[in-house]
Amino acid sequence: MIGDFEVKDEDLAGRIGILETKHGKLETPVFFPVINPLKQEVFLEELKAVGFNNFITNSFILKKNNILQGTIHEKFGDNFVIMTDSGAYQILEYGEIEQTNRDIVSFEAKIRPDIAVFLDIPTGNTDDREEAKFSVEMTLERGKEIADIVDQNEDIIWVHPIQGGQFLDLVEYSAREANKRTNYKMLALGSPTVFMEKYKYDTLVDMIYTAKSSVSRGVPFHLFGGGVPHIIPFAVALGVDSFDSASYAIFARDNRYLTSERTYRLEDLEYFPCSCPVCSRYDPSELLEMKSEERYKLLAIHNLWKIREEVNRVKQAIKEGRLFEYIQQKAYSHPALYSAFKSILKYSSYLEKYDPRVKGNVKGLLLFDHNSMNRPELLRHSEFMANLKPKRNKVIIICGDKLGSPFISDPKVKSIQGRNRDYDTFVALPFYGLVPVMASEAFPLSQFEIPDIIDDTTLNETILKIKETLRNKNYAEIKFMECEKSVLSHIMSINPTL
Ligand SMILES: [Zn+2]
Repeated sequence: MIGDFEVKDEDLAGRIGILETKHGKLETPVFFPVINPLKQEVFLEELKAVGFNNFITNSFILKKNNILQGTIHEKFGDNFVIMTDSGAYQILEYGEIEQTNRDIVSFEAKIRPDIAVFLDIPTGNTDDREEAKFSVEMTLERGKEIADIVDQNEDIIWVHPIQGGQFLDLVEYSAREANKRTNYKMLALGSPTVFMEKYKYDTLVDMIYTAKSSVSRGVPFHLFGGGVPHIIPFAVALGVDSFDSASYAIFARDNRYLTSERTYRLEDLEYFPCSCPVCSRYDPSELLEMKSEERYKLLAIHNLWKIREEVNRVKQAIKEGRLFEYIQQKAYSHPALYSAFKSILKYSSYLEKYDPRVKGNVKGLLLFDHNSMNRPELLRHSEFMANLKPKRNKVIIICGDKLGSPFISDPKVKSIQGRNRDYDTFVALPFYGLVPVMASEAFPLSQFEIPDIIDDTTLNETILKIKETLRNKNYAEIKFMECEKSVLSHIMSINPTL
C-alpha cells in the first residue's frame, strides 16, 4: 500500500527501509535534491546519471508561475519519485506569501506528486519562545485544516512537519501531536538549516533526538534541508530516513566544493580529492577558467556525487553494523562534528534501545578510545553484568588484555579454571570491564580489536565499571591473576573485601 514503510536493516537507531510510493519503491536513507522549477542548474537526466531517482520541488513556485498544465509527472516524467514542498521556506526567507494553506494543498492534490507537504510555519532559529510556540500551534492547526484533502488523496504520501526550533519541549509537543494524525504517512522535522549554517550541530542533534523519540518508530522521518554530507551519518544514526537540500546548487554558485568532511572553496584546491566524472575529467584550475554557468553546473554535479556517495557509505555501514565506528571516525573531521558525536552519546540508551541484538555481518567491534565505551554492545554488556547472579561466593579475575580469544579455550584460562573449580571466573578487559569466561564465546565478548596503547580515561572507566560490577555481588574473596603486567594492573588495588 502507498505509504507503507518496511525496515530491512538497522544499526544504532538508523535503518535501511523501503517506502512504497505511486512511482515505485524508494530505498531509505534517501536524499531528495531540491530542483528549482524556474532555473534548473542540473537537468533531470543529469540527476538520473548521478543515480538519483527522486527529487523535491516547490509547489508554491510551480503554482505562482503557472508552470504546470497537468500533473507534475506529465511535466517531469514518470521515472522519478517526486516530493513537493509547500513554500514554507519562502516564508522563512522572504516573509508572508500570498497563498493560503488550502490553496497550496488543493494545488498539490491536483498536480499529484508522490509525497507532499502542506504549508507549515517554520520556527527557524528564533529565541522568542512565544514566536516558536505560535509556529508550532499554527502548523498543527494547518495540518488539521486540510485533513479532508489528505483523506481524499490517499495515493499521495502527506507529510506532517514538526516545528519548535531550539525549544525542545515545543519540539516534543509538536512531534507527539503530529504523530497522532495517522493519515499523515510521513513526519518531518523543520528548520534545521539555520542551525547547520551556524555549525550548531549539537542543537540539531538535540532537536532530532527529541522529535524522533516522541514519534512512532515505524513512520518514515524526513529532515528538511538536512542534506550536507558531513551531517547525514549523524542524522541517520538517530533515525532520520530522508533528507532534502538545495545546498549542492547553492554551494556551486558560490564556488564551494563539497567533500564528505568539509566544504572547500574552489580557489583553494590544487587537486580534486574525488574521482567522480567531473573531477576525473578536469582539475581545479580548468574549472576556474570556465564560464561561470558551466562551472556552476559541473560543481553542482560533483556535489551531488558526494552526497550520493555519503548516503551509500552510511547504508553500507548500517549493513555491516559499523555505523557507530563510522560516526566516530567522522567526528574527528571537525570540532562541530565532534560536538554532534558527543551530543549523540548523551542519547546512547536511545541508540541501544533500537540497535539490533544480533547483527549478521559484523566480524568484530573496532574499539578506539573512551568514546567507544558508549557503544550499544558495551552498554548492554554492562547491564548484563549488573544483573548476573554469582554462582559461588569467591571470584577469580584474570586480566585478559594479553589472552587469546575466545578466552574459554585459552590454555592459561583453562588451567586457572581447572585448579579453582570453587570460584566464579571472570576475565577483565579494557572497555568491557568483567566478562564471564563461560560466556566469552557470545558476541561480542571475544570479537573485538583494541589498540596496543589505551588511553587513561578508558582504563580508569574500565576500573570503575569493574568496581561497580563487583559491588553488591558480595564475594567473600577476590583473587587477581595474570594482572601484574596487564594495562589493568591497577585493578589489583580493588579491595578484596568490598
Ligand atoms: Zn568530484
